[in-house]
Amino acid sequence: MKKAGGILIALAAIGAVPIAGFVFLLLMMSAIAGGGSGANCFPGGEPPKTVDVKNVPEGPIAGWEHEQLVNAAHIVIAAKAMNLDGRAQVIGVMTAMGESSLISIDYGDWETGGVRNPDGTPTSSIGLFQQQTWWGSVEDRMSPQKSANLFFQALVKVDGWATLQPTIAAHRVQGNTNPYHYQQFFDDATEIVSTLTGLPLTTEPGAETCQVGTGGDYPTPNGDPPGPWGGFDNGRIPTNLLGNVPWDGRHTLRADALEALVEMDRQFVTDFGYHLPINDGYRDYDQQVQAKEEYGNEAATPGTSNHGWALAIDIGDQQHWRISYSHPIYDWLKRNAPSYGWVHPQWAEPGDPGGPDEAWHWEFWGKAN
Ligand SMILES: [Zn+2]
Repeated sequence: MKKAGGILIALAAIGAVPIAGFVFLLLMMSAIAGGGSGANCFPGGEPPKTVDVKNVPEGPIAGWEHEQLVNAAHIVIAAKAMNLDGRAQVIGVMTAMGESSLISIDYGDWETGGVRNPDGTPTSSIGLFQQQTWWGSVEDRMSPQKSANLFFQALVKVDGWATLQPTIAAHRVQGNTNPYHYQQFFDDATEIVSTLTGLPLTTEPGAETCQVGTGGDYPTPNGDPPGPWGGFDNGRIPTNLLGNVPWDGRHTLRADALEALVEMDRQFVTDFGYHLPINDGYRDYDQQVQAKEEYGNEAATPGTSNHGWALAIDIGDQQHWRISYSHPIYDWLKRNAPSYGWVHPQWAEPGDPGGPDEAWHWEFWGKAN
């Protein structure tokens, strides 16, 4: 059932990955070292089942048919050969699900959608992982095990891959236009790897087995919330102490907050393919009066806004609509922003009695030393 459907999914997925592979090139060039093999996922020291492609269940498992399960087994074997654990195996399988529906196809973006690389050349992606020419020979890219090996070699070079959300780790290898594209395959991949290997992998939080969940708790904020600095009143900061957000040239922030934002944006661009959309930054006193008139209760009393310290921003989606709590950008910021000193204040958390629900409002609390 899913096999036929799978090919359709594959075509849709292929359309979504026009820049697949470019990130890999960047990774190879920057030669980030290490990454480790992640936590040990062999509960109780029990040896896992030997995975043998000749001995794969007839299936289906989670709706995936035998041929697809055999390819999943190839991926698992490639990971195990590199001493990579169950979590890595799940990342490999979910990536191939998102790229090819676990079928080693000899065509890709160019053939199905005329998709070109950023430099104008036709894309050349093929195989389980839709790898382009620079990944290896046609034979290697069409070989389930060899292509998986190429994928895992790139995965372990991704900084912090073992603790990133699985879909983000996959995305940093593949360079999908949607970093959350692979998330939808996470549960299926977990069930398949668990069945093939005998590892009791689970996505349930708190279960006493190998956790392959979405990446753990959000980091806690550090430093202090925005407040008076430099002896200035709120909304009365001299403009020569502020800098412009480089990619919009409009919104301004205190220099250290801006520097941290630029640094964070560099990672954001890698993951989303566009700059962090900023809807608001510093608001001087007159602008706060204006905002109060425009938004009423939603806006702070003039002279008290967090934006008046030049340490707060409002984030939009690509069309500059305010983001919601369910928006991928909010999720990404929750996971990544604190390490750059940017935090979502408690009062703006969903349902907090201390303030309005504002997914879009973020503040610079300073970086941990
Ligand atoms: Zn705000």
